[in-house]
Amino acid sequence: SPAFAAKRYCILGLARSGLATLDALMASGAECTVWDNRDEARETAVSNHPEVRIGDPMEIDLAGFDGLIVSPGVPLNRHPVADRARAAGVPIIGDIELFALARASLPPHRVVGITGTNGKSTTTALIHHIIREAGVPTIMGGNIGLPILSQPPLPEGGVYVLELSSYQIDLTFSLDCDVAVLLNITPDHLDRYDGFAGYCAAKARLFAMQHDPAHVAVIATDDEPTRTIAATLTAPREVHAADVSAEDQRAWPALQGPHNAQNVAVALATVDALGLDQARSRASLATYSSLPHRMERTAEHRGVLYVNDSKATNPASTAPALGAYPRIHWIVGGLPKGDSLDECAPHFDHVVHAYTIGEAGPVFADQLEKVMPVTRAELLANAVRSAMDNAKAGEVVLLSPACASFDQFRNFEARGDCFRKIVDALIAEDANQQ
Ligand code: ADP
Repeated sequence: SPAFAAKRYCILGLARSGLATLDALMASGAECTVWDNRDEARETAVSNHPEVRIGDPMEIDLAGFDGLIVSPGVPLNRHPVADRARAAGVPIIGDIELFALARASLPPHRVVGITGTNGKSTTTALIHHIIREAGVPTIMGGNIGLPILSQPPLPEGGVYVLELSSYQIDLTFSLDCDVAVLLNITPDHLDRYDGFAGYCAAKARLFAMQHDPAHVAVIATDDEPTRTIAATLTAPREVHAADVSAEDQRAWPALQGPHNAQNVAVALATVDALGLDQARSRASLATYSSLPHRMERTAEHRGVLYVNDSKATNPASTAPALGAYPRIHWIVGGLPKGDSLDECAPHFDHVVHAYTIGEAGPVFADQLEKVMPVTRAELLANAVRSAMDNAKAGEVVLLSPACASFDQFRNFEARGDCFRKIVDALIAEDANQQ
């Protein structure tokens, strides 16, 4: 697209999305200066685009650039490059902002933007699924799947479904979503924000960017922070987890657990706002298959179900997982986001036995021992083995760590894959002994 002809951008960070951004900008005639501390990342950029300039935004003169493009992983509140860019009057943006700026050159289309503390990926994938089942061209992007700028544009009438973390929203200023969606807000990422209010304000900016009065805000007002944001908007569409009946939910195998009621309610309100046929949308829920690492049923053995919820990286996302089953062997721990599991406490009566792992293990064990039997397993493999020994038919072995994974794993996907492999290996071992 000619959207960026003669524009000058500086790209800081040449991982997957940085390189995809570079490709898109070069293809549309922009002039790019790029930087990454890793030599091989800079070499990749130059070999892909020999005409690219190399320059560290901490050293070069930033005046005159149309934007400094950073990855959402860069903590701007602590990174000195933010002050340099501000002093030079250069906006700090991300690939979603570039997408927003390029929209004028795309065939007529609509955009759905989804944010919230938990459930973003599930809801994004669900909305995308329903739209696709309705026969409307659609792609997913943002925090999920391929970088949005590396995907071919949709034909006329298409719908872009974007999962937006608060970091991505912080780097976006012009995205006027046809439907902007907020799922829930609970404390998370507070290290990057000026307290909880700052985090809420970041989420609320998705709605502040909606300038067309015909555009719709869909908000799950099941918690106080989302109600506060809804109260500032004119005519938001408010939905509640309770709008979805337990009976309806049981009909949709991949959408078990009380938290999924919220995701379903939000998804249906969103596709309704897009004007899709309601009966057909509801029917599509039955054909949705869940994402890996999110309440993923990985195996069943001797009547025990093994569920991988490695994506639950904070207590608020683990709480609904504990609510989903009545008798749980719970594997919990990792790199903690706080010391307390209080948010999970309402469902502690569902836990038969806890198995603590990782850095948070000892602290969690001290806390949980007061109310349930605990095994200090330390390693995931030990935890799965003990849980398998203890679990009886009808019970569930659940990995829902309430913590980040980086103390013992590369990322939450690696942790979930590891869980799956251990479960499979132990089941095979057990079968061989028969
Ligand atoms: P995100 O992309 O926002 O991290 P996911 O859809 O990947 O969200 O789900 C992350 C975790 O949050 C999973 O453990 C899931 O069980 C839990 N979860 C999903 N939807 C919700 C919700 N609406 N409220 C609370 N927790 C949820």
